[in-house]
Amino acid sequence: MRPTIDVSPLSHSLPLTQPVLLDPHAAPGAPLATATAAPAMPRVLFVDQSGQLGGAEFALLELAAHCSARSEVVLLADGPFRARLEALGARVQVIDEVRVSGVVRQASLMNCLRVVPAMVRQVRAIAARARAFDVLFLNTQKALVLGALGKPLHRKPVIWYQHDILTREHFGRVQLSVVKWLVRLAVDHVVVNSQASARSLAELTGRDASAAPVIYNGIDADAFSRVDDADLVALRRRLCLPEHAWLAGLFGRLAPWKGQHVALEAIARIPDVHLVLVGAPLFGEDAYAQRLREQAAALGIADRVHFAGFQDDVPTWMKAMDVIVHTSTEPEPFGRVIVEGMAAGRPVIATAAGGVTEIVRHGRNGWLVKPADADALAEAIKALHADPELAQRLADQASSDARSEFSVARYLERMSQAIKLAAR
Ligand code: UDP
Repeated sequence: MRPTIDVSPLSHSLPLTQPVLLDPHAAPGAPLATATAAPAMPRVLFVDQSGQLGGAEFALLELAAHCSARSEVVLLADGPFRARLEALGARVQVIDEVRVSGVVRQASLMNCLRVVPAMVRQVRAIAARARAFDVLFLNTQKALVLGALGKPLHRKPVIWYQHDILTREHFGRVQLSVVKWLVRLAVDHVVVNSQASARSLAELTGRDASAAPVIYNGIDADAFSRVDDADLVALRRRLCLPEHAWLAGLFGRLAPWKGQHVALEAIARIPDVHLVLVGAPLFGEDAYAQRLREQAAALGIADRVHFAGFQDDVPTWMKAMDVIVHTSTEPEPFGRVIVEGMAAGRPVIATAAGGVTEIVRHGRNGWLVKPADADALAEAIKALHADPELAQRLADQASSDARSEFSVARYLERMSQAIKLAAR
């Protein structure tokens, strides 16, 4: 008998919600924007705080490449993200202040005050760049703070793409207050990456949740179609993965709230399944990465857990898996890896919180489990392992939904319209 997994009240069938139209008052199905003539793409100065490749940076990569003819990207730290942008034809400038880069999301007021002089330098440098552009597009929290604080200097329209759920689980009190006041006073347009992110913004600022249009990240499904997985054994041999094991793949940076430790606990309960962890500790979570290795050894599963590190070729790695698991213990704002797993045509098990429930419909195009529940995750993996027909049915629907609901074309079209509206 197929095991049933009770994730109620979270497991109710959630429709794949359409992003809110850019005109919040437009009827569903109406044209995306109220503009009649198609104005030229404005000159955009994009700002992102990271040199590393997280989800927000992958989303910006496509957009900056799309706008590269008349735009530029300012990064507040150097790293592999710069090379990826430049390879796609984007002009990049790094305006780095090490002391500001070191401020973490939960930093105290004292720590924030210490970096004020360095912040002022960055605010002025960004404002000076912004004067040559029509719109300032802020892609991360620090970019929001530094770009919006400079508004009296640059006087350009400011658009913020909010990629985060703005709650105390993710941010310190000081950061949340700063975001709240900047959004009220210095940001002209906000777009959000999910309804979950929109709700958190509404709770923080008192704004109507529908005021900010939801623009889901687009995922390039063709990159997954191009991977030839007809000979799975050869594919796995090439990646140095066990050729005949049943593989669960967990993709994402190694960080406590991404829940890799929960996946280890779950795998320890299923003797014949291997776990492949693809990702690295990008933002200083090295101690957690070390703890994961110790946990695998302590659980006696080190031979069934494969640490692959950060991989550039996610489509190939995903195609090598039998199931993709997502294990975030806190609400995930969006979760690109989930849509990528769907685009790869693999069944996806994900934790039912935040933006995930806007992507995955339990039992239809994926499987939802309670966050931080290793037993539930183990049962879900067992269920899909034991029932290949169910796994295939979910994967087929997922593959179709990824292509129809989360295309790059749709993402770029909506984002371009948002930028044009902001520029007017
Ligand atoms: N990713 C990658 N290589 C890795 C691990 C992850 O390129 O080794 C990519 C992954 O394909 C996804 C992004 O990093 O596009 C992570 O985005 P997500 O929204 O899942 O998480 P975030 O980083 O925003 O928390």
